[in-house]
Amino acid sequence: MVLLESLSTDSDQWKQSIMQYHLNGYRSGNPSVATVTSDAKDTTQAVDVLIVGCGPAGLTLAAQLCHFPDLSIRIAERKHGPLDVGQADGIACRSVEMFQAFGFAGQVIKEAYQVNEVAFWRPGPDGQTLHRSELIEDVEDDLSEMPHLILNQARVHDFYLEQMANSAQRLTPDYNRELIALSRSENTRYPLTATFNCLNDDNKTETIAARYVVGCDGARSTVRGFLGQELKGESARQLWGVMDILAVTDFPDIRKKAAIQSAQQGSLLIIPREGGYMVRMYIELEELPGNERAADKNVTPETLSDKARAILSPYTLDIKQVVWWSAYEIGQRVCDQFDNRSGNLEDHLTPDAFIAGDACHTHSPKAGQGMNFGMADSFNLGWKLAAVIRGRVKPELLPTYSQERQSKARELIEFDKDMARLFSDKPKDAQTAAQFQRYFKKHGRYTAGVETRYDRSIITGSTENQQLASGLPVGMRFHSADVIRLSDAKPMQLGQTLLADGRWRLIAFADNTDTGQATKPIASLCNYLSEDPNSPLLRFTPPGSDIDSIIDVRAVFQAAHRQLSIENMPALLLPEKGIHRLIDYEKIVCADTASPPDIFTRRGIDRINGALVVVRPDQYIAAIFPLNDYNGLAEFFSRFMIEV
Ligand SMILES: Cc1cc2nc3c(=O)[nH]c(=O)nc-3n(C[C@H](O)[C@H](O)[C@H](O)COP(=O)(O)OP(=O)(O)OC[C@H]3O[C@@H](n4cnc5c(N)ncnc54)[C@H](O)[C@@H]3O)c2cc1C
Repeated sequence: MVLLESLSTDSDQWKQSIMQYHLNGYRSGNPSVATVTSDAKDTTQAVDVLIVGCGPAGLTLAAQLCHFPDLSIRIAERKHGPLDVGQADGIACRSVEMFQAFGFAGQVIKEAYQVNEVAFWRPGPDGQTLHRSELIEDVEDDLSEMPHLILNQARVHDFYLEQMANSAQRLTPDYNRELIALSRSENTRYPLTATFNCLNDDNKTETIAARYVVGCDGARSTVRGFLGQELKGESARQLWGVMDILAVTDFPDIRKKAAIQSAQQGSLLIIPREGGYMVRMYIELEELPGNERAADKNVTPETLSDKARAILSPYTLDIKQVVWWSAYEIGQRVCDQFDNRSGNLEDHLTPDAFIAGDACHTHSPKAGQGMNFGMADSFNLGWKLAAVIRGRVKPELLPTYSQERQSKARELIEFDKDMARLFSDKPKDAQTAAQFQRYFKKHGRYTAGVETRYDRSIITGSTENQQLASGLPVGMRFHSADVIRLSDAKPMQLGQTLLADGRWRLIAFADNTDTGQATKPIASLCNYLSEDPNSPLLRFTPPGSDIDSIIDVRAVFQAAHRQLSIENMPALLLPEKGIHRLIDYEKIVCADTASPPDIFTRRGIDRINGALVVVRPDQYIAAIFPLNDYNGLAEFFSRFMIEV
């Protein structure tokens, strides 16, 4: 399937056009609409993957799995149709990087509000009147090539739904389906049976058999219950009021993200919204003890408006329209495990039922992580599930989902607790206010989603060669930088070539003497990869498939693009592909020497020795090797891949 990047008005968008198409013959029309192939299966009562829930976690997973036409998928949702307003809105830089991999970052950037600065307000020297205590930049320089954005969760859903509808499966959700039971059957191929109430058809139920079930069914997850997992954490839950409004105010920072701590009236978080006029206000209400629910508190839009006015006073707030509002409770909780390796549905060494998103962790909206974290869960799980079902990797890979994401969710809960406490503290003095601001600044990288670091596992190697690429830490996401493509001198972001297509990447950074000559390390590596029987490319690429279909090899040279000759480059970097054996000219890039510091300096690549960086299909760095450590590379892939 080909991925679309539409152009937007953003000045950097020209760097984002990375589509390749017409490989197997010219096809007119919209290239982002995949051809329905004979591989596409009938997905009625038995499927490879059944996803429950159409929130950001479920839709990310569905969009990822749709990349593989040979997988059968269904996604069921209790609601009557797509979400059209409300819920989360914060999109971290890391999520925008992921959207780029799916091919719709440009559209999101075009529509969204971009967070550039954060204002902190607290009582002034008189202890009463609000004053702005600090303005800070929201995203530090070179944290990501992508911005921090605010956009209605419903629009994010729309983009995923469009991807699914354009895929070879033409996948659309089954709305009005409420999961009521999940059990294990005797069926060895499709061992899980899910039963749904058909809400649009009185008294009817539908059963779907599946090889794998993923519960993306939110904080009150039904799948979680069937897995025997529970959310554990604080028993008191915080009640939050949130409203999206169109209003007239004399508060000067209404178009900035602003954290306001009033002397007596509580705290307010202002999030300007997309479109230039709408604003979201988060208002912390009270703790809910025991079983009390948000609904018991009789919160109304008037309650929220009055509270917002009181906090903002003496500034005025004339609300013209409450577009959406909600009062919802949040507990900081996480499950022990995100799969069924223990608990109900029998013990399993290799899990076949999973939970993702709010179904396995919940936290306050202060750090803006609800939607982002759930999407990251699914991005972690999706390629693993696809690779196992397609017989490319060993099922032993699957437990790494829960291992990796559960520990990250725990870190998030700890972070969220600190953030929530500091936000809610009454501003006693300048010192406590400064402490909150410092905390906020320090953790900017965390809230941007770029601090995630996975521990060592079968798919994350050691750090013994980290010095070869000190700015690309093993276990963290591949941090992009500017490069120039050799074949057409196109300025681009290297990270944006890492699409959500399930492929592994070998990114070979050349030493400073290497311009592609046959005697130098890049050519030697390419020779090994294309000819040696131990080469992971030869061992794991199915016969007849394009040579880059499982492991995609790319090279980055230090020399300026005009100093290199494409005709002298190793054949593996100009692979012949598709039915016509057309040449793929997009594997070789060069440092952007005209705009220093270049990618080698920015990412700490050893200029003398170069480096070979192995990147997972979800863009996380799996391992780093010297360019000539062929055995190390072969051993790494043989841990989890299945020989063809
Ligand atoms: C009312 C509400 C307001 C929110 N407001 C904010 C906010 O202002 N800011 C913020 O940051 N976060 C907010 N959140 C949280 C944020 O939306 C979530 O963190 C994020 O959506 C998590 O994504 P998810 O895919 O894990 O779950 P969800 O988005 O909750 O999606 C789960 C989906 O599963 C469906 N489902 C549940 N049970 C079943 C079943 N048995 N059968 C079939 N389908 C089922 C649900 O209908 C839902 O569509 C809000 C959440 C809610 C529910």
